[in-house]
Amino acid sequence: MPDTATVLHPTPSSRVQAMREYHPPLGCRDALRLDFNENTLACSPKVREVLGRISAGDLTRYPEREPVEAIVAAHLGLAAEQVSLTNGVDEAIHVLFGTFLESGDELLLPVPTYTMYEVYASATDARVVPVQAADDLQFPFERLLAAVTVHTKIIAIANPSSPSGTVITRAQIIEIARRAPQAVLLVDEAYFHFHGETVIDLVGTLPNLIVARTFSKAYGLAGLRLGLLAGPVELMRWVRRVLSPYSVNSLALACLPPALEDVAYLDWYVGEVLAARAEFEAALDKAGVRRWPSRANFILTEIGAHHAEFVRLMSAAGVLVRDRSSDPGCDGRVRITIGTRQQMRQAALVLDKTLATLRAGNEAQ
Ligand code: PMP
Repeated sequence: MPDTATVLHPTPSSRVQAMREYHPPLGCRDALRLDFNENTLACSPKVREVLGRISAGDLTRYPEREPVEAIVAAHLGLAAEQVSLTNGVDEAIHVLFGTFLESGDELLLPVPTYTMYEVYASATDARVVPVQAADDLQFPFERLLAAVTVHTKIIAIANPSSPSGTVITRAQIIEIARRAPQAVLLVDEAYFHFHGETVIDLVGTLPNLIVARTFSKAYGLAGLRLGLLAGPVELMRWVRRVLSPYSVNSLALACLPPALEDVAYLDWYVGEVLAARAEFEAALDKAGVRRWPSRANFILTEIGAHHAEFVRLMSAAGVLVRDRSSDPGCDGRVRITIGTRQQMRQAALVLDKTLATLRAGNEAQ
């Protein structure tokens, strides 16, 4: 046996050495899951039926994605060549950044925003240029335009954004696309169904617009890992060179058509969340908790200095919420996913008790 102290290990690239490992708290989540903005209930029963019919023999074959891509494209009113399915939007971001970013390029990132943009940017040689939102967390439109340079290669915008739930308007998206023609404008519509507004109809019209969608949120398929990129053929051609033809598995592909077809289920779930969001907003207001106006299935709240204790107490009472304090400009803020009305009534009770415990603790000090 060699002396382990003297064993030489291969070193990764300097880029990877500089990366931080991102480890979201996905463990021990047998509770009310208001921490990852997933569907909190279930996918369509039609999807369950299809899953139940998949045989052992079906699993022996490599997945064929093109027929399903054609179905999704038709559903979105796009041509099949404009759409690529991905292993969640996370793979879409990874592949898009890998396709376009190189040394000397800049990625413009309005922040706070979805964490994985920065993670995947750090796996490239490009420079991240964060554009900080003001305290109201509204989209920093003027500041973003001012930050555009000849080196800007990608501008990544989540609409609605996370963790704030705030949005950018269609007119602003069009203006940004026009002012940065050398850059890919990624509009990540992960939470589209709760917002109801989209720019996917502009795909192919704006030459630099690429839209991302996920099946992890409203559709309730986060475990299957299913997302997509939709963009002009001229850009998607490059994306497909980098994207693995094998990355979307056959279970996910089989589930996609019934998920798209069951519009009634999707409408029901989205309606439930929107009703629950209004109720929960009222509960937060009554409890005197500051919140940001959200167009998504989550609400960012101001908990203050006791944010970590708040999250711990909520979790101990069976309700998981997500501390966003380390996001830029979000110290003391906690994001709460919105589920069904019944779930959110339970969450509101736990919230009241938790706040009372924290306040009693404060007074005792
Ligand atoms: N984009 C945004 C804005 C998100 O908030 C999330 C999930 N939290 C994702 C993408 C990830 O989507 P997926 O599960 O399809 O990888």
